[in-house]
Amino acid sequence: MENFQKIIENNRAWAASMKAADPEYFAKRAARQEPLFLYIGCADSRVPANVVTGTEPGDLFVHRNIANLVMPGDLNAMSVLQFAVEVLDVKHVIVTGHYGCGGVKAAMTGTSFGLVDHWLQPIRNVIRWNKPELDAIPDEKTRSERIVELNVLEQIYHLSETPVIQHAWAKGRRPLLHGLVYDIHEGLLREMATGIDSQESADALAARRLAGVPTGPPPLVGRLDSPGQSFASGG
Ligand SMILES: [Zn+2]
Repeated sequence: MENFQKIIENNRAWAASMKAADPEYFAKRAARQEPLFLYIGCADSRVPANVVTGTEPGDLFVHRNIANLVMPGDLNAMSVLQFAVEVLDVKHVIVTGHYGCGGVKAAMTGTSFGLVDHWLQPIRNVIRWNKPELDAIPDEKTRSERIVELNVLEQIYHLSETPVIQHAWAKGRRPLLHGLVYDIHEGLLREMATGIDSQESADALAARRLAGVPTGPPPLVGRLDSPGQSFASGG
């Protein structure tokens, strides 16, 4: 209970200091929010969005989950994205991963952690798709850091595929997509991909992902233009 009370005390002290420096600080922010950035990051307690980016209340619209995933079936993330892009009109969408990510480490092991196993499946795909590159890294810590980086690029690609981003890009070249990795050892943000403003540039990131995937024609199963495979012909 003492620790919880400390949070309340900290809040009182912070609010008072902000008001002392600028009497209108809260009044200005209470009127409206006009953030320029949507920040998508990991839920990890060591990567607080405003603190590591040196930003203020009102600067970032934030969505966080385990291992900073952008999944099209995630109603929460898609609602945040749609509101940020179409209502708040953010100019940038930033995906931030971080070294030492517990979600990535869990995905690297064959161990079951329960419900979160389902959530982490996309990271196992990232590992699978980049197996040749990752197998060539002998050190486990370095390998996990590379997976963190590849996962960020993968999520940028997922973002580019969403109808929200597709519709926005059809009207102009905003928002720009950026991929960052936060180095928890140094406190520094490293740029993985910046200024992604088209499907072509997002596809270039996917090409890196696909480097380890066998090439060749896609399987014919389910293709409607294949003889005997259309639903109409009962195939
Ligand atoms: Zn994490």
